[in-house]
Amino acid sequence: QPFDSRDGVIWFDGQFVPWAEANIHVLTHGLHYASAVFEGERAYGGKIFKMREHNQRLIDSGKLLGFDIPYTVDEIDRACVETLARQGFEDAYVRPIAWRGSEMMGVAAQSTKIHLAIAIWQWPSYFDPAERLKGIRVDLAEWRRPDPRTAPSKAKATGLYMICTLSKHAAERKGYADAMMLDWRGQVAECTGANMFFVKDGKLHTPMPDCFLDGITRRTVIGLAKARGIEVIERAIMPEELDGFSECFICGTAAEVTPVSEIAQWRFTPGEITKTLMDDYSATVRAHAKAVAA
Ligand code: PMP
Repeated sequence: QPFDSRDGVIWFDGQFVPWAEANIHVLTHGLHYASAVFEGERAYGGKIFKMREHNQRLIDSGKLLGFDIPYTVDEIDRACVETLARQGFEDAYVRPIAWRGSEMMGVAAQSTKIHLAIAIWQWPSYFDPAERLKGIRVDLAEWRRPDPRTAPSKAKATGLYMICTLSKHAAERKGYADAMMLDWRGQVAECTGANMFFVKDGKLHTPMPDCFLDGITRRTVIGLAKARGIEVIERAIMPEELDGFSECFICGTAAEVTPVSEIAQWRFTPGEITKTLMDDYSATVRAHAKAVAA
């Protein structure tokens, strides 16, 4: 079912509106000039995992684009919780988005109103579940993550997703599930909606998130690995090094922990460490739901 004609409600500037009526004008600044930021969160068992971190990052992303979202993190948290309750889902994906409105058209947008909407829908698996378990196939993207002097690369800003959609579409045309993007220096960066981890000699290696999103799932996984006594090395990784890694997985709110079997010419075998962290991650998000409910 298309996304603009579903049942339910969307939280829109402080009100619940029927899903199909949550519309904006075509002369919205956010649409023309990418003055918009968003989040992706997941609810498990009726509770949103790391909700505060996500909603704080939403506010911070807005600041990086030069605007203040007119709600506090508490208000955004409450709006997410109420929208989830109205939608009546246990497990769901939560999408807050903030954008500049239509009061001004042109690059300058100083006096545009900042809007906020929250939509929640069911999104069980980001990748094909059958493929996901044996490891997804990933292409090497032609597009690179920009120099932080070129774009506010720490923001979860819609404009930065142009690079992701171009890369993902090119990969899908070749039969791959996703694309790995290098950064402007040629270092391994991330996939189009998830961060990356590699395994070598029982240790985890992950790129330093200095010009791409430092995922909340990435930080959770680092914590889970350390709790298991697995060493985590954050460093610059060059694509030539991919030969030396035995396992690879990606992680993100939507993707959760997803094993990777190949990236372009490189091959990986999902193994013990990937399996352990997949299981630990799902146990953690479920335990969180129970702890919050208690
Ligand atoms: N990188 C990109 C480009 C993403 O879109 C996402 C998903 N938000 C991530 C990484 C992972 O971030 P998180 O774990 O906070 O969802």
